[in-house]
Amino acid sequence: MHPTRAESYDVVVVGGGSAGVAAAVAAARIGARTLLVEAAGFLGGAATLRNVLTYCGLYTLGPKPRPAVGGIAQEVLAALRALGALVGPKRFRGVFVVFDPEAVKRVLDDIALEAGVDVLLHALLIAAERDGNAVRAVTVQDRSGPRRIEARAFVDASGDCDLVYFAGASTRYGNRGFINMGTLGTRFGGIPREVPVSAARWSKAIRAAKARAFRTSPKKPGSWCGCRSRATSSPIWSPRNTTPGTRPASAPRRCADAARFGTRESRHVDALYQVTAEDLRSGARFPDGIALGAWASEFHDPATLGSSFEKPGSETYDIPLRALMSRDVSNLFAAGRTADGDRMAGASLRVMGTAFATGQAAGVAAAHCAAQGSVSADEVRKALAAQGALLDGENLPGPVAIEA
Ligand SMILES: Cc1cc2nc3c(=O)[nH]c(=O)nc-3n(C[C@H](O)[C@H](O)[C@H](O)COP(=O)(O)OP(=O)(O)OC[C@H]3O[C@@H](n4cnc5c(N)ncnc54)[C@H](O)[C@@H]3O)c2cc1C
Repeated sequence: MHPTRAESYDVVVVGGGSAGVAAAVAAARIGARTLLVEAAGFLGGAATLRNVLTYCGLYTLGPKPRPAVGGIAQEVLAALRALGALVGPKRFRGVFVVFDPEAVKRVLDDIALEAGVDVLLHALLIAAERDGNAVRAVTVQDRSGPRRIEARAFVDASGDCDLVYFAGASTRYGNRGFINMGTLGTRFGGIPREVPVSAARWSKAIRAAKARAFRTSPKKPGSWCGCRSRATSSPIWSPRNTTPGTRPASAPRRCADAARFGTRESRHVDALYQVTAEDLRSGARFPDGIALGAWASEFHDPATLGSSFEKPGSETYDIPLRALMSRDVSNLFAAGRTADGDRMAGASLRVMGTAFATGQAAGVAAAHCAAQGSVSADEVRKALAAQGALLDGENLPGPVAIEA
């Protein structure tokens, strides 16, 4: 047994996806000594681990799309563009950008390093300790053994809400028995570069392959292409289920090459406020709005395998700071898909573009909490505005050009 190493920070962020990187960078930039803990060997979360290769939620979905997320997300886009690793914005149902996941790893490393974030890779959060109604420390496990890390404030950007759960704060799995279905994002190889790829061609090819009872993926040299379809979805996938034998991911895995099964929804924090379907439909505004939701409510129903795509009623809705604040632990913030939304709203605010925005807000709030012992929504909004975040849904920047 190796001795437990002890360390201390102002802010610890768990999870190095879009939300976690934005949280850690935002906290460090306002002076908090910040640690970012990531289980994988690189940053990016679903963008680099699960073949999710488009950032959604960055632009409004109307006829003239405008930016809805600023700040750190736009810095990431600019750096990806400078590397020639970004295409878009494009429109297909929604408005999104497409990126090269290897470039995402590099850009997120750079942005975290420049901000002075300490990054711990290959490090899994395994426990959290409470002191009354605050989290006092977390334990992470890396290849040198356990580390106990104290901090004054914490952000859960793990996607699965592991930190909130281990801290004994209130969480729930999905929403009232509904859970947004998981899908295995896949990449197909052996496609000659000159062959044009479109959704219609994919559907035709998959139908033809099924008709031939096609079972294995071709492993030929050539270009690779991403795909997420009903064929690679699993109505019984649960990220909490690690029991061998049940293996809900194994059926889709037989169809194609893939990395890790994609989770659209898991545990949420039970926060001081839950963003609702009504907020999305009415374009709700809140005095403590710290991010804008712009993506549609995209719920993939495991019961029917059908998908909804209900756009926000007035292009954007506010996500209030209270939706990121644990209702029973004072120094604990949630960001990305762990934030509190009901079935409809959660199915919108979960996307990676919006995760950058809620992450940045959670990082600023955690840094303020670490410095002052409390959080003022006005001060968080001011600090976010100074970091380039977009908070005023009624006065967005001008329209962007959509690529054909
Ligand atoms: C099939 C599919 C398609 C999707 N399509 C899109 C799309 O096109 N565009 C879009 O924007 N969004 C899409 N989404 C949604 C999106 O991928 C997620 O909702 C989004 O990644 C949430 O960001 P996040 O930062 O909260 O979490 P994640 O990106 O999941 O990052 C969480 C990170 O935390 C780490 N972590 C987890 N537990 C621990 C632990 N205990 N200790 C340490 N680290 C831990 C993980 O390794 C991971 O890196 C899709 C999702 C799926 C499943």
